[in-house]
Amino acid sequence: MEQVDKRRKALQEILLNKKREVVQQIENLMVAQEDTPSGILDTGDQSLKNHETDVDLTLLEMNNRLLKEIEDALIKLPENRYGICEECGAEISAGRLKAMPFAKYCVTCKERQELFEKIERTRTEA
Ligand SMILES: [Zn+2]
Repeated sequence: MEQVDKRRKALQEILLNKKREVVQQIENLMVAQEDTPSGILDTGDQSLKNHETDVDLTLLEMNNRLLKEIEDALIKLPENRYGICEECGAEISAGRLKAMPFAKYCVTCKERQELFEKIERTRTEA
């Protein structure tokens, strides 16, 4: 039981760190958004600015979605539904989750999947 708690704590740490990162990024984007001066630019600059704003909004949306995923994962964590391979039900290693917090499969299943995809591709190409 202690082993489970230890793992859960490590995973929670990963998620909370990631969350802090994302929240910080969202805040930065919001500040950049507010700092954008309007009304003092000529048409050429304005269209350029609009383009930049579009990019920022996409980034903001991406980070918002990420934040939602992290919050979902934090809810799943105490119920032991986070960090479990959807294919075989094995625990996904903490190291893998650190690199990819939303990995759905363990390394073994992922590798097998990629191998199958590769075989499938070779077959359809031939
Ligand atoms: Zn698996």
